[in-house]
Amino acid sequence: MPNYNRADIAFEHGQGAYLFDESGRRYLDFGAGIATSSLGHGHPHLVRAIAEQAAKVIHVSNLYRIPQAERLAARFVEASFADSVFFCNSGAEANEGLVKAMRKTHADAGHPERTRVICFEGAFHGRTLAMISATGNPKYQAGFGAPVEGFDHVAFNDIDAVRAAIGPETAGVLVEPVQGEGGVRPADLQFLRDLRALCDETGILLGFDEVQSGMGRTGKLFAHEWAVVSPDVISVAKGIGGGFPLGAVLAKEKVAKALVPGSHGTTYGGGPLACAAGNAVLDVILADGFLDQVRDTAAYLRAGLQALVAAHGNVFTQVRGAGLLLGLKCVPVNGDVQNAALAQGLLTVAAGDNVLRLAPPLIVGKAECDEALELLGEVAAQMAEKTEAAAK
Ligand SMILES: *Cc1c(COP(=O)(O)O)cnc(C)c1O
Repeated sequence: MPNYNRADIAFEHGQGAYLFDESGRRYLDFGAGIATSSLGHGHPHLVRAIAEQAAKVIHVSNLYRIPQAERLAARFVEASFADSVFFCNSGAEANEGLVKAMRKTHADAGHPERTRVICFEGAFHGRTLAMISATGNPKYQAGFGAPVEGFDHVAFNDIDAVRAAIGPETAGVLVEPVQGEGGVRPADLQFLRDLRALCDETGILLGFDEVQSGMGRTGKLFAHEWAVVSPDVISVAKGIGGGFPLGAVLAKEKVAKALVPGSHGTTYGGGPLACAAGNAVLDVILADGFLDQVRDTAAYLRAGLQALVAAHGNVFTQVRGAGLLLGLKCVPVNGDVQNAALAQGLLTVAAGDNVLRLAPPLIVGKAECDEALELLGEVAAQMAEKTEAAAK
């Protein structure tokens, strides 16, 4: 179906932060399959885990215990705020589970009317019928009928707006600690702390969509850790499987216990193969010093991008984001900048608000950052020339 705008390139294999197309041309991957190939390409530990598990058993269904999922869940519980984990297959599906868990928690507490979730301008929560409503951007909703009821939208980073939107039917708040698709916009850490206090005060639940910001992307396992707040429930996907499809809902017991047997489920979710991939990713991300290195590389890349903005203010006006989820606010159309970078052999991803998103694999090194910065410098010079020529 024609629903994607694909570039006319097919990658044949990858290694580390590089992808190689069918003609053997090398590309530096600063998109990571939209912040998903967290360990880069061909990571031997992930490859081996998937191959070994595939040879043993790929799928059994949730009619039976799945030790790989039990182990992965226990490790998330150990490493996070959560008491319990539900596995699924994608970010949208994780958010569906999160919203269902929020609603059911209130229903079980005698408040079935508490079904509404407060979301934010610039949000992105996925493409299912309910999640395009949670996203609230008309661009994703047009032609798909009446919005699914139950989502209210307020300004991002505006605690007074959230307070004003809370009513007797509010179940909770769902916010991305760093808005990815919306333009790589971080939430103020104080805003996240204020949300926690406000949710406690009003008896509603605090949910974070960590689908893009989680799994080490910002230099902590989850981005909300920077604010030192404890949510009630979060959604995770993208980087969790290192490119293998996997999603998860992590929750406090008071939320998790609402999903009693039969209330929610999925055929594929939490299967042996996906969870073997998830465990292999965690082995790397939770290894001593790995996240320190992500933070160190991120600071290096960010400083380089600041210098790029200083040198090419006519093309790039601002660096934003957190950790290795960074954005360059563009003067030319971001899609044109993305295409120019592609022509230079650098993969990036456009985001909302005319931002060029940089989300390299977490294993990226400083030499690769230097290479990306150099290519972006060439792109900026090219774009500046084009803009001048057009102005004449
Ligand atoms: C990508 C994304 C989603 C949707 O994930 P899918 O796996 O495409 O369904 C949801 N929320 C955020 C923040 C995302 O970045």
